[in-house]
Amino acid sequence: MDELVRRARANGIELQELTAEEARLIEPRVRTYERALFSPTTSSVDPAEVVAAVVADARALGITICTSTAYRGAEAGGVRTAAGRVAAGYVINAAGLYADRIARDYGFGERYRILPFKGLYLYGNGGSRPPQTHIYPVPDLRQPFLGVHFTLTAAGNVKIGPTAIPAFWRQHYGGLANFDLGECAEILARQAGLLFSNAGDFRSLAWSEVRKYSRRRIVELAAELVQGTRPAQYRRWGQAGIRAQLLDLETGTLDMDFRCLGDDRSFHVLNAVSPGLIASRSSRDEPGSHAAEHTRDPGTRARAGRTHQPGACLRALARPRRPRGARREPPAVAARGLVDVLPWPFSPGG
Ligand SMILES: Cc1cc2nc3c(=O)[nH]c(=O)nc-3n(C[C@H](O)[C@H](O)[C@H](O)COP(=O)(O)OP(=O)(O)OC[C@H]3O[C@@H](n4cnc5c(N)ncnc54)[C@H](O)[C@@H]3O)c2cc1C
Repeated sequence: MDELVRRARANGIELQELTAEEARLIEPRVRTYERALFSPTTSSVDPAEVVAAVVADARALGITICTSTAYRGAEAGGVRTAAGRVAAGYVINAAGLYADRIARDYGFGERYRILPFKGLYLYGNGGSRPPQTHIYPVPDLRQPFLGVHFTLTAAGNVKIGPTAIPAFWRQHYGGLANFDLGECAEILARQAGLLFSNAGDFRSLAWSEVRKYSRRRIVELAAELVQGTRPAQYRRWGQAGIRAQLLDLETGTLDMDFRCLGDDRSFHVLNAVSPGLIASRSSRDEPGSHAAEHTRDPGTRARAGRTHQPGACLRALARPRRPRGARREPPAVAARGLVDVLPWPFSPGG
């Protein structure tokens, strides 16, 4: 929790440190352990609306946007695409699940590979006084995932999750759609390697995440944050999202930070996992200023529209974390509770 405070301060995020009693004034059913952090500027956006606003701004500036046009490869002075050659003085690669492959075409990121994880949320049925604010647990800083949390979407729904369960090919959103045998074999081999080496304590991460295949388990984790959370209130799974998580082949561990690589020809955004969307203002500006620096062309600066749900966020640790090797104490009611902060101003809605 102290580390979250430090990061928030370093990034200029407004944050209030609360006692458990103060936290309950904001969200009466929240469970907290002695302290809590409150982020009053947290909001939810509808990502589709944000993208539509960026597109509208870009078009108004005279920029052409080609959708459904796959990148096929790099070549001198441009790129090959499914719609033919496109001339490019400078290339910015923000291809999410395929960003590592494109980066390699330009000689960057040889040590990284995408290892996809599938994220699903459970939507509430609105019964029994749902929480009025985002509530997050204190994350385990040794692991890249956030933990099950409560999100208020821009549309006003409440959802709990996400899972971070292995996807077996990059676009494994559901069923066998987009199945790719080569990707599947590579991903299974990498997951097996991580299980075998146990780098970054991958086995315990895998075990805790695989258990989230069960709806009951997700509700159980959410109930550690908010009293009175019941399986009957959370029955509907939302659409799957896939996290483009970077695996560092040199250290054999999951990477925890953005990797922005580039030179005078190209710029590559890797590992823009959560909080990717949130950091969008700075992550939008960084490739632009990098390109401008190298090409003397300030390029385009499309302004992202913001549709957001005014709100705030509490972040909760349902139980004090036990140091590794320490003896397990019997759970004490007084030791359950809410702690923490959401150190980012937006969570995607919808
Ligand atoms: C379950 C889940 C929950 C999340 N929660 C949050 C949250 O609360 N807050 C937050 O900030 N972030 C969250 N994120 C992360 C957020 O969604 C990502 O950080 C963000 O989408 C990354 O944006 P991006 O533009 O880098 O990549 P993407 O959104 O993946 O966009 C990449 C684009 O490149 C295109 N593309 C790929 N390959 C090619 C190719 N060869 N040719 C042409 N086009 C190509 C794709 O079609 C896509 O349109 C969450 C993610 C998941 C999965």
